[in-house]
Amino acid sequence: MRTKIVAGNWKMNKTYKETKALVKELNHAVKELTLDNTRVIISPTFVNLQKASKMTKKSVIEVAAQNMHQEASGAYTGEVSAQMIKGVYVDTVILGHSERREYFGESDSLLAAKVDAALKNDLEVIFCFGEVLQDRKSGNHFKVVESQIKNALFHLDSNAWSKIILAYEPVWAIGTGETASPDQAQEMHAFIRELVAERYLSDVSEEVSILYGGSVKPGNANEIFSKTDVDGGLIGGAALNVDDFTAIIKAI
Ligand code: 13P
Repeated sequence: MRTKIVAGNWKMNKTYKETKALVKELNHAVKELTLDNTRVIISPTFVNLQKASKMTKKSVIEVAAQNMHQEASGAYTGEVSAQMIKGVYVDTVILGHSERREYFGESDSLLAAKVDAALKNDLEVIFCFGEVLQDRKSGNHFKVVESQIKNALFHLDSNAWSKIILAYEPVWAIGTGETASPDQAQEMHAFIRELVAERYLSDVSEEVSILYGGSVKPGNANEIFSKTDVDGGLIGGAALNVDDFTAIIKAI
């Protein structure tokens, strides 16, 4: 059975104090939940990772980083390496988010290098991809998603896929209040799973969790998560308060 995952991408939100307060509330809230085959992940900013990691040591909540540099160390001012993330007991990293692609120019080939560096250091990767509105309108969305996945992940051997989580995030649905319809999400997720099945054996494609991201809220989570190939969500805005995030976890 595929693992279900609800992951919160906090982006550039929450100060140290606010991070402590939210993690405390979340730790408390998840205690009340029965999490059957479900993982809950949060990803605060780099400066708050260590604190969040410490605070969740005894909680079911896991912590992920939002980005990572591909080199192990060196003269890369402002950057953080895989080893540094591992060093604060964080085992997962989000890579390829559309905001990283758009505002920081991250290309497929750079992301392939980041994925390799993460896996080499035993970090699990939540790999994000998704089309912009123009691609959807012109009917290119399948092609775009296919090339994003192929270019960054298909050089991996099948063993590596136990450390990969896929996150389909149509860019037009991020922070816009507009979600892909549950059917649009299902259609794309089934396409992705088929793509993975063609390249690898079906045990890889059947095992990989594929999350949906883009304006997931308590009000629409149930319907989106009910789809066969949607194994959870990558949540932005609604991950920033305990009530919404807890309601979304409950929906899975
Ligand atoms: P929103 O849920 O705010 O649309 O953000 C989604 C996202 O980008 C998660 O990575």
